[in-house]
Amino acid sequence: MTVQAEAVVDLDAYRSNVADLAAAAPGAAFMAVVKADAYGHGLAPVARAARDAGADWLGVATPDEALALRAAGDVGPVLCWLSAPGRDWAPLVEAGVEVTASSAQQLEEIAGSVRGRARVQLKVDTGLARNGAFGAQWPELLAAAARAQAAGRVEVTGVWSHLACADEPAHPANDAQEQRFAQAVEEVRAAGLDPGLRHLANSAALLTRSSVHLDLVRAGIATYGIAPGPGLDHDVDLRAVMTLRGRLAGVKDVPAGTAVSYGHTWTTERDTRLGLVPLGYAEGILRAASGRAQVAVAGRRVPQVGRICMDQLVVDLGDLPARPGDVVTLFGPGDEGEPAAEDWADAAGTIGYEVVTRLGGRIERSYR
Ligand code: PLP
Repeated sequence: MTVQAEAVVDLDAYRSNVADLAAAAPGAAFMAVVKADAYGHGLAPVARAARDAGADWLGVATPDEALALRAAGDVGPVLCWLSAPGRDWAPLVEAGVEVTASSAQQLEEIAGSVRGRARVQLKVDTGLARNGAFGAQWPELLAAAARAQAAGRVEVTGVWSHLACADEPAHPANDAQEQRFAQAVEEVRAAGLDPGLRHLANSAALLTRSSVHLDLVRAGIATYGIAPGPGLDHDVDLRAVMTLRGRLAGVKDVPAGTAVSYGHTWTTERDTRLGLVPLGYAEGILRAASGRAQVAVAGRRVPQVGRICMDQLVVDLGDLPARPGDVVTLFGPGDEGEPAAEDWADAAGTIGYEVVTRLGGRIERSYR
């Protein structure tokens, strides 16, 4: 590594996760979720790898992310699902992107801004209280969709929803949402529409709840080799895709009693060697993990100590004969003794999703 810090993305691991996850939902089409710059792994290379591994669909949140996929050369099925009002939908429809309508107003905006026939999937809120039509909004959306389809402005190609508690398989909300979804599909039929693709499952539901695999599964976090939640029981052997490395910018021997970093929240108990890593919260290293995370240097785990700063953090090297320039591995698959992204999430009291999607700043990405 010649740069100061790099995130190495192992596309083989990614492809193997996609193939294994798709195999775990045999009757369903597979959507690789690549929103948020492929969860911080880089949209274009990850999208190509997803298709190489057999992903039928790519899923993104925003219309601009969908257009970025087209600009990167992707020509396959793409679904996007999140937009504020006032969007010009014509470029998306012309690019063959399928869009999601979460309200009658949104459906009418889509139908009104395209020349041809927009391929639209209908999103019902079955209990997440986020995006999707809820309560009286749902029959309004169905009526608007039926009208626009009869007028030749849209074609309804799917109906879908999203689970609130899939990472807690025993949570009663899962059953409730599954039942509400089945009812919503019947309501689509009763409105004279073919529901098309029915989908509900994210990574956690793919791994733990085959009854919601339906026609398509939408997997994000698990494709990146990160567990959707702690303690989930499943058979797929996920491989961590990203390794985050930095290099020691400095090393210093200090006596017992040396207070370290802002606020002096940690003090050395013995004579020791401190290493300075030029990565901080400006790069997305979670400050909340301060003093609780670990890194690997020369195959050995050492603790991160004191507060994580904007662009640097300190590690306690103990008696390791480390020198400036030595590689420090923050997280990855464990090949260099490093912790997992999930360990950083635990240390910061958050989820693995946040550990990878926050990365940016001066970190260079490379692929292998
Ligand atoms: N579907 C939708 C609508 C999402 O917003 C997401 C991500 O949050 C996913 C699927 C993928 O979820 P996960 O990363 O938990 O697999």
